Amino acid sequence: MQVMVVHTLRVLLTSSALLLFSALLLGAQDPEVKHKKCRYCNTTGMVACEDKVHGRVDLSMEGNMVLCTHVGECDTCNSLGRVACDKCLRPDASKLLARMHEKHAAALARHQELETEMKRKLSGGESEHFRLLWDIESMKIGRKRLDQHELLHLFADRMEQVHARYLEVLQVKEREIPDRSAMAVWWLPKDHDDAARRFCGGNASMGVKRMGPKPFFSTCGIRSHFPSDEDLHRYLVHNAAHLLLSNHTPSRWMGQYKGGAWFDEGLASWFEIDLVERAQTWCFQEQGTGGAWGKGKWRIAVRKLVQQERQPSVATVLGRDVNTLEQAEQAIAFSLIDYLIQIDGSKLPALATRLKNKSPAREALIDIYGLSPLALESVWKEWVLDTYPTR
Ligand SMILES: [Zn+2]
Ligand SMILES: [Zn+2]
Ligand SMILES: [Zn+2]
Ligand SMILES: [Zn+2]
Repeated sequence: MQVMVVHTLRVLLTSSALLLFSALLLGAQDPEVKHKKCRYCNTTGMVACEDKVHGRVDLSMEGNMVLCTHVGECDTCNSLGRVACDKCLRPDASKLLARMHEKHAAALARHQELETEMKRKLSGGESEHFRLLWDIESMKIGRKRLDQHELLHLFADRMEQVHARYLEVLQVKEREIPDRSAMAVWWLPKDHDDAARRFCGGNASMGVKRMGPKPFFSTCGIRSHFPSDEDLHRYLVHNAAHLLLSNHTPSRWMGQYKGGAWFDEGLASWFEIDLVERAQTWCFQEQGTGGAWGKGKWRIAVRKLVQQERQPSVATVLGRDVNTLEQAEQAIAFSLIDYLIQIDGSKLPALATRLKNKSPAREALIDIYGLSPLALESVWKEWVLDTYPTR
């Protein structure tokens, strides 16, 4: 199944210049060695449906979504936007399409549940690992203004990128994150309020998330929250990482426990920096007051703190809960995660499991990484001074 996703993404990549980030998703494997190349469908087994019922909708983007509401209703392609490539050399092309229709039907049923709750049609659908709602009608990305449909596919691409990177860095199998994460980006504060109440069981003006099994995140994407696309992108990456970590088995939110906040926030911030270069998301402080701590460039800022011996101690950071984690402490938490990934990212899931089971961070670190907080502090500081940029 993984192979198919990669194939369909390749169609996207060649057909749509806006999806700049697909390249990373494609990863190291090259699936095309498995099949004879088909130039009619880029070896995906599927081509865009040409039924006139689709009007001007650009179906060349459909490759990264299982369900997209913008495709509309069509008997020819069963609303998938794609039909079998009739000149195909892939022996499994028809099987792929049949499986796709099954996934599409299941995704549609789930999407309709959301529409029933919200009492209206919603722009969105599903990618391989996310349920997505995208309400913003148009937005500037770089120099280009994209419409709602293009933005939805870009959103899908970006969230799948977090998922792919998560699996890669923590060396996790796909099945270890059992549920699709739902992510909703609204335009009207009223819709976000409504969705947050219905699906997340709480509310806050900027963003709300339900963690653990069937995670759900809702945010209001208005300009006053997110002045630029990059701001919104960063925020969504941060929150996608939270949802994935909380759903990763055992599916539970560690941030609720003392000793879990540093890992939860540190990892989410790590993905921001890894995928969008800067971090400035603060989940549990008075929202909006955080701003760009260290200008968002945390490696430089952390190095400065360590050099001046002004950094909060590791023991302090490990002991915080979500409500008391301060900005500099969150940046240190990011850097500790950065260090642990550099030693061995594949041990992070075992550490996460211990923290989800309320183990004290200190004991868990000793058992999994063989480092007490004090030992960690000393090797980590040395590593920061050796490897982090000065500007
Ligand atoms: Zn679409
Ligand atoms: Zn069609
Ligand atoms: Zn073909
Ligand atoms: Zn966070």
